[in-house]
Amino acid sequence: MTPSDPGTADYVVVGGGTAGCVLARRLLERTDGTVLLLEAGGDPDGIGSVTTPHRWVENIGAAHDWGYTYAPTEHVAGRTLFLSRGKVLGGSGSTNALVWVRGHRADYDGWAAAGAQGWDHASVLPHFRDCEDWEDGASEQRGAGGPVRIERPRDLHPVAAALVEAGVSYGMPYLDDVNVAEPCGVGPINTDASAGVRTSTWTGHLRPVLDHERLTVVTGARATRLVIAGGRCTGVEYVRDGQPAAVSASREVVLAAGAIDSPKLLLLSGVGPAAQLRAVGVDPVLDLPGVGRNLQEHPILGGVCFAAREALPPPNNNLEGTTAFWRSDPALAVPDLQFVAVQIPYVSPEVAARFPVPENAFVIAPGLMTVASRGFLELTGPDGGLHVQPNMLAEQADVDALVTSVEIALDLAAQPAFAKLVERRAAPGDDTSRAALVDFVRQAAMPYFHPVGTCAMGVHDAAVVDPQLRVRGIDGLRVADASVMPTITSANTNAPTAMIAERAAALVAAG
Ligand SMILES: Cc1cc2nc3c(=O)[nH]c(=O)nc-3n(C[C@H](O)[C@H](O)[C@H](O)COP(=O)(O)OP(=O)(O)OC[C@H]3O[C@@H](n4cnc5c(N)ncnc54)[C@H](O)[C@@H]3O)c2cc1C
Repeated sequence: MTPSDPGTADYVVVGGGTAGCVLARRLLERTDGTVLLLEAGGDPDGIGSVTTPHRWVENIGAAHDWGYTYAPTEHVAGRTLFLSRGKVLGGSGSTNALVWVRGHRADYDGWAAAGAQGWDHASVLPHFRDCEDWEDGASEQRGAGGPVRIERPRDLHPVAAALVEAGVSYGMPYLDDVNVAEPCGVGPINTDASAGVRTSTWTGHLRPVLDHERLTVVTGARATRLVIAGGRCTGVEYVRDGQPAAVSASREVVLAAGAIDSPKLLLLSGVGPAAQLRAVGVDPVLDLPGVGRNLQEHPILGGVCFAAREALPPPNNNLEGTTAFWRSDPALAVPDLQFVAVQIPYVSPEVAARFPVPENAFVIAPGLMTVASRGFLELTGPDGGLHVQPNMLAEQADVDALVTSVEIALDLAAQPAFAKLVERRAAPGDDTSRAALVDFVRQAAMPYFHPVGTCAMGVHDAAVVDPQLRVRGIDGLRVADASVMPTITSANTNAPTAMIAERAAALVAAG
């Protein structure tokens, strides 16, 4: 990494996570400009929990985690929920569970229908394809030769294999590739891993071009404020080794600090709901009411847990290996549930405290992928204190779908493939009445660590960026990360974020 900062660049990218690594690489390729990337964390290579897929849970709360929390509500039984965010090159894409899925065609067509012109499925497909090197090679849907190697997990763990067998006997179609345009069924997951090692936009996009003459990567550099003068963003202030510094951008600043830190930086720079900014001691520069609103998160249940009949083999792949997309209501057009079978007892601390959960156990963990609940984040003071409230399970529709997901998980567990692995159910308990399951859902719900939507793209008053990802009302400034999703995708958010950055670089290059 470049030890010092030249103080100026054509493009300054803030945040070297999933999106930032793509942006830096593609801006070098698509423009003739110099690129300076500011990343608060350091180099992930050599961190075993980053590189080794089945150790990813060790990243949660590690030194390279920002360690945010979601504030409690009664909807999640008054619990404060840990919100993991990677603080390292590759960002959360270096620390995540390696699931590489795009979601459903309808997710993107929905964005476009709501005003995000140019983000419909047909338009974003080329960017998904450009990003990946899929093991089966190129097709209309999949890409090959791109920076991020994507494979199906090998040597499926018995728990992973059982999910597929049980899903099929339950009535789900078998999906050989979960990244078809309209996934519904069960099959091997796609992961960004190869030969037992994590791949990512860090390993695929950025690391190979580190010595590019037009690139400067400054690590350990935490951006603190955007420099905005006369309606234009001209640079970024940051802190490195406890020392304040600044870099100016002659063409553009692109925020890619993720769905928590991108809106936080805008707010700290006076861009956001003016009254709320004044109330916490920040002078407003631009009244942009949508900044920090519209927060969406997928709840995952940890979980429907089973003591195993015989000693399970050591965990492998990404602890999952397979997945199912399914509907809580057959009338739904798009599957709203995703199931994974986790090879360890991945349960919330409250479930663990209530039920005797043995070590030799696994869970069927349903996630709600189409959420009605909306949250927000806001500053608590001028120095960056943050209140993050996802309002998970605030909407009854979300609770209802998750209760159904537990019932489906119990039905899956009753299929012969799981029945032969199970000694007894550890959680939930014998009472599976609706009231008991509602209570269980509120205790078991954990964040999937998929916050999005806090700098939403659109053309309405609450939009923060326009469909070209330009911050509305400020020149020379874009946001290009998970925060711009108007609505959360109906599957994990990493591949969609990489796609957003691929498209963003094309938009920047187009001027
Ligand atoms: C534990 C975990 C498991 C997950 N599992 C999956 C999964 O299996 N599949 C999936 O699809 N998604 C998963 N996700 C979510 C997925 O990884 C994210 O949606 C995606 O990485 C978001 O990309 P991003 O670029 O928006 O943000 P990030 O990748 O989080 O990148 C933001 C970057 O900005 C840096 N940064 C922040 N603030 C500043 C600042 N002020 N100055 C300088 N740098 C800053 C951060 O350090 C970070 O490197 C998981 C996330 C976590 C944390």
